[in-house]
Amino acid sequence: MDGSPPPRPALSIADLVADGLADAEQAPVLEQVVQDFRLRLTPQMRAASALSDGVARQFVPSAAELIQRPEDSLDPIGDDVHAPVPGLTHRYPDRVILHVTKTCEVYCRFCFRRETVGDTGHLPPDQLEAALDYIAQTPAIWEVILTGGDPLVLSPRRIADLMARLTAIAHVGVIRLHTRVPVVAPDRITDALIAALRLHPSVWVVVHTNHADELTHEARAALARLADAGVPLLAQTVLLREVNDNANALEDLFCALIRLRVKPYYLHHCDLARGAGHFRTTIAAGQAIMTALRGRLSGTCLPTYVLDIPGGFGKVPIGPDYLLADGQSWRVTDPNGQIHRYDDPVKS
Ligand SMILES: *Cc1c(COP(=O)(O)O)cnc(C)c1O
Ligand code: SF4
Repeated sequence: MDGSPPPRPALSIADLVADGLADAEQAPVLEQVVQDFRLRLTPQMRAASALSDGVARQFVPSAAELIQRPEDSLDPIGDDVHAPVPGLTHRYPDRVILHVTKTCEVYCRFCFRRETVGDTGHLPPDQLEAALDYIAQTPAIWEVILTGGDPLVLSPRRIADLMARLTAIAHVGVIRLHTRVPVVAPDRITDALIAALRLHPSVWVVVHTNHADELTHEARAALARLADAGVPLLAQTVLLREVNDNANALEDLFCALIRLRVKPYYLHHCDLARGAGHFRTTIAAGQAIMTALRGRLSGTCLPTYVLDIPGGFGKVPIGPDYLLADGQSWRVTDPNGQIHRYDDPVKS
């Protein structure tokens, strides 16, 4: 026993039809979709999907996934552009992403890594060793970001081993995990897992969540266990058409997260993953939502709206812009849309 919950039974299109989440006539085409892009849902998200379209659209396959658009990409964020060794992405000098597994507890229909995620399990031991060697030999690496797939599908024993190895590298000051597990598979947030995470003195967990209806009682309790254990929590959200692309849906989500002691960190503009075009909004639509939220929510609830520039060029904030250069001074827009002049101090 390594402390993991038992494997979950596989879910089929027929199960989704039985739940009323898919039409029987659509079953053949959905079977075709899941040949290409895997189907997986936890019992918690299966139940939440039955209650909420905002949850269901993220996990239930759709015939629209067979549509390819000219802008679709096989490596939308350029993970492969900056891979010094397999399983490691080193794009910024001070931090690396370590892809510890390709498995997730759910397969999101818009996933930006949908070409690589799957049930192939964790990074092979020799590749993990090579990645750890690279980190140990690169003193500029200040932060190691564990991702996947989802790093928290690993057993507490494996996570403890990894945390111990990384903690032994003196220049690694911070370990960050990006995960959907606390929300979609909250039963995995056990005492053993929390103890494993806490082996490093500065471990941050970034929870991926896109809709307030994902935050079931179990998910809320799991987030509270992490917060009570002193693990700082951030959230990342993907802006998704017909899931959360309106100010009310995001207000509900961000305010709920702050109450759960989770700080919204990034709102991601949807990436160019293949067969996910039906989830994309325009950037102007995202900016309009952020403008509306800036006017009405606590600053603690507001994430930064970012675009991961296709091709591996990095993430940048994409507005809205409040500041415009105007000759020697600035024009600043307030949350109500009024424009004000601001002058820098005069050089003496
Ligand atoms: C997103 C990302 C990071 C982390 O970026 P932050 O802005 O620090 O959250 C690091 N490396 C790569 C390759 C990334 O895509
Ligand atoms: S949990 Fe993350 S990596 Fe896994 S399918 Fe969803 S978005 Fe992709």
